Amino acid sequence: MTIAKTVDLVAAARKAGYAVPAVNIVDDLSLRAVIAAAEQAQSPVIVQTSVKTVKSMGAEIISSIFQSTAAGASVPVALHLDHCPDRSVITLAIRNGWSSVLFDASDRPLQQAWDETAEVVAEAHAEGVGVESEIENIVGVEDGVGADEAIHSYSNEQLVEVATTTGTDLLAPALGTAHGMYKASPVLQYDRVAELGRLTDIPVVLHGGTGLSLADFQRFIDNGVAKINISTTLKLAYMHAARDHIAKAQASGKWEPVKMFDDISAAVQATVIEHIGEFGSKGAAAGVTA
Ligand SMILES: [Zn+2]
Repeated sequence: MTIAKTVDLVAAARKAGYAVPAVNIVDDLSLRAVIAAAEQAQSPVIVQTSVKTVKSMGAEIISSIFQSTAAGASVPVALHLDHCPDRSVITLAIRNGWSSVLFDASDRPLQQAWDETAEVVAEAHAEGVGVESEIENIVGVEDGVGADEAIHSYSNEQLVEVATTTGTDLLAPALGTAHGMYKASPVLQYDRVAELGRLTDIPVVLHGGTGLSLADFQRFIDNGVAKINISTTLKLAYMHAARDHIAKAQASGKWEPVKMFDDISAAVQATVIEHIGEFGSKGAAAGVTA
C-alpha cells in the first residue's frame, strides 16, 4: 500500500509546493534509515540507487529489501534508479520493480539521445515505470557517471521538445548545480526552472543539492522544482559516523559492529530529516494518495 510511484509523488509535491527528497542509498542499512527518517517526519520519500549500488548489491536483493521495508512503512515510498547511461541496467531495474529510472543520455549527441530516450520511455511505460530524462550533462562525477565540464547544453525549447515527443515523465536539466562538493560558489539558474514550467507541465528535478542553502532550495522549489536529489550529504553522514564510531571503539576497546550500524543509521536519519525540513515535505505524506 505504501509502495508508491515516483511520478505520483512528484506530481503531488508540485501541486502542493514542496519537493520530494530523493536519497541515494548505498546498502540495506541506509535504505532502512532513509525510510525510517521519512516515517518520523511523515514525508513521502524516493529511495534512489546509483548504477554502482545496483552492481554492488544486486538488483534482486535491492528490490526485495526495498519491497519488504516499504510495504510496512507508514509513508509512501518509491524506488528510483539514478543516472544510468547503460541500457542493460535500465532494463534490469524495469524488470525488478523499480518505480522509475533516470536514463542519462547526456553523453550522447542530441539525435541519439532523443532516439534512445524514446526507446527507454516505450520500454519503461510498458511496465508502468516512469522515466526521468537527462540529455544535458549536470556537471560533476557521481559514482563513476558524468563529467566535470558541460558537454551538451540546449535551449529550454529544445529540452521541452525532446521531453514531450519522447513522453518523458521528469526532466533533469542543468541548473547550475554540480554533483559532489562545490569547489567554487555555483551560479544557480532558478529562472530556468520557471521558464521550463511555462513551457511544460513535466516536473523538474534538481541534482547536486549538497552544499546548497535553505534559501537556495526554497527558491528552486518556489520556481517549480518538485524532486531534489541527495547523495553526497548522505555519504558524508554515513562515513563520518563510521569513522567516529571506530575512534570510540579504539578508545574503549569495545568492538561491536551492530552499535556502529546504530550510529550510522542515526546519522543518516538526522541528515534526511534535515533535508525533509528544507524541502517542505514534512507532514506531506498524508496528502499523497499512494
Ligand atoms: Zn544527479
